[in-house]
Amino acid sequence: KLSARLQLIADRIPPGCRLADIGSDHALLPVYAVRHGLASFAVAGEVNEGPLEAAKRQVAEAGEGGRVSVRKGDGLAVIEPGEVDCITIAGMGGALIVSILTAGAGKLEGVSRLVLQPNVGEDTVRRWLLENDWYLAEETIVEEDGKIYEILTADRTTDAPALNEQLYRERPLHDEAGEAVVLTKELLLMMGPWLTRQPAQTWFAKWEMELDKLEKIRRSVAASKQGAAREKEEQLKTVLGRLKEVL
Ligand code: SAM
Repeated sequence: KLSARLQLIADRIPPGCRLADIGSDHALLPVYAVRHGLASFAVAGEVNEGPLEAAKRQVAEAGEGGRVSVRKGDGLAVIEPGEVDCITIAGMGGALIVSILTAGAGKLEGVSRLVLQPNVGEDTVRRWLLENDWYLAEETIVEEDGKIYEILTADRTTDAPALNEQLYRERPLHDEAGEAVVLTKELLLMMGPWLTRQPAQTWFAKWEMELDKLEKIRRSVAASKQGAAREKEEQLKTVLGRLKEVL
C-alpha cells in the first residue's frame, strides 16, 4: 500500500502508459504502477547506490523484474528518447527537479505527462513548466506526517500556451466593500493557480506556516531591512484574508 502522497501521485499516471520514475528510491511507485495497470512498463531511475539497491530489492521481491527496469544514472540519463510517455519526479527540491528536466530536455520528446512533487520550491517548478509550454493541468495538496506536499501535473498539449495564459491571468479578489487585491502572476506562481481557486484547509495551513517563517526571518534581520519583508508579509496576509472570505 502506498502512502497518501505517493497514492496521489500514482492517481495522476495515465493508465497504460510507459513510465519513468526518477529518483525512485525504493521503487514503490513503479512497482505499484505496473501492478495496477497504470504502466505497461516502468523505469526506476536512481543516482545513488543505497536507494538503487533498495529499488532492485523491492522489484525482485515483487517479482516485477520483467516490467520494471531499475537503472543507475543522473536524472533523465537513464531513459532513451521516446522510451516513456509519463515521468514522475517526487520527493526532491524544486530546483533539482528543474535541473533534471533542463539537463534532460532531449528526452522529453514523446513525453506527454509530468507528475512532479517538489518538497520545496514549487514556484520554480511552475515557472519552468510555464516557460517550457507545459500546461499545468492540476494541482493537489496533501498533508502527510505533519508535512505538506504539492503535486503538480503537467500535460504537453498544443494549446498549452493559451491555456497557461488563462490560468495565470491576474485575478482580483474583492472584499465586501468591493475593494480589490490582485492575485498577480507572481503570486499565482508562488501559491498555485489551481490551489488558490478553492483553497483547501491544508493550503491555508501551509501559508500560515510560511507567514510565520517570514515573520521570524524579518525579526532576525536588521531594522533597516525589515521594510521589504514586512511588505511581503502584508501582501500575503491580505491575500490569505481575502481567500478566506471567499470560502
Ligand atoms: N521518489 C521517492 C518518493 O517520492 O518517495 C523517493 C524520494 S527520495 C527523498 C529522493 C531520491 O532522489 C533519493 O533516493 C535520491 O538518491 C534521488 N536523486 C537525487 N538526485 C537525483 C538525480 N539527479 N537523479 C536521480 N535520482 C536522484
